[in-house]
Amino acid sequence: MTRRRWIAEHWDEATATLKGAQAEHMARVLRAQPGMEADVVAGGHVFHAEVAAVTLNKEKSEVRLNLVAELQADPALPVTLMLAVYKFDRMEWAIEKLTELGVAEIAPVIARRTEKHLALAAEKRVQRWRRLAHEAAQQARRSDVPLIHDLTPLSVRARSGAAATRIVLAEQERTTTLRYVIEESMEAAKEEMPALEIAIGPEGGWAPAEEALFDANGWRAVSLGPRIFRAETAAIAALAVVSSYLE
Ligand code: SAH
Repeated sequence: MTRRRWIAEHWDEATATLKGAQAEHMARVLRAQPGMEADVVAGGHVFHAEVAAVTLNKEKSEVRLNLVAELQADPALPVTLMLAVYKFDRMEWAIEKLTELGVAEIAPVIARRTEKHLALAAEKRVQRWRRLAHEAAQQARRSDVPLIHDLTPLSVRARSGAAATRIVLAEQERTTTLRYVIEESMEAAKEEMPALEIAIGPEGGWAPAEEALFDANGWRAVSLGPRIFRAETAAIAALAVVSSYLE
């Protein structure tokens, strides 16, 4: 049986400490005692560990573990998803699912057709998105937590010179498919894993000026087929296609 993984936010060479909700759960629900075995992720590495001390306290519960041996970890897919901010409940769902599917990074951006009130409230949401990604990573037994970038305007992110193959999902695109561009970048990367960045538009789609901006900055427009997906469906479908090649 594969064990649950705990993701420690505090660690040193020999120990890791769980705090907050994770410590509460381990101590109260699982009744952790010194000597109990657990798998712990610390600094992106997975360790087989043993509980050393349990402190149950109303405000500050803590479980300290001794790191016994490092285990083989599975790397995230080398993919950044650039998500144009849209309805928060759907976006949160997308962040959770993308984390389960193995995304490495998520970059939330404000696009022209992002609703104004969402654009204004989004900055404050980033911490919550990070927490959701952390919980989903743990649930999926990942050995890392996806990086959720600070919110940026699309115009900035689209211009930043990433080393990745940059792909923009566009429902207007009729000929180039996502599969085609992935195959091409795999050939170009030879033995390496190609790094990809994939942009998904908001509910209203990309504005013409944004399509021009992507074009001018070397992004490849791709189609996921003739049907129009909601943004969260497009994001998940795209990552599933990537994972079928890279995993
Ligand atoms: N404006 C559109 C819907 C946008 S869907 C309309 O209502 O007609 C939101 C985003 O999902 C798009 O910007 C695009 O990035 C992505 N998307 C949806 N369906 C797609 C498809 N078939 N191929 C590629 N991208 C798609």
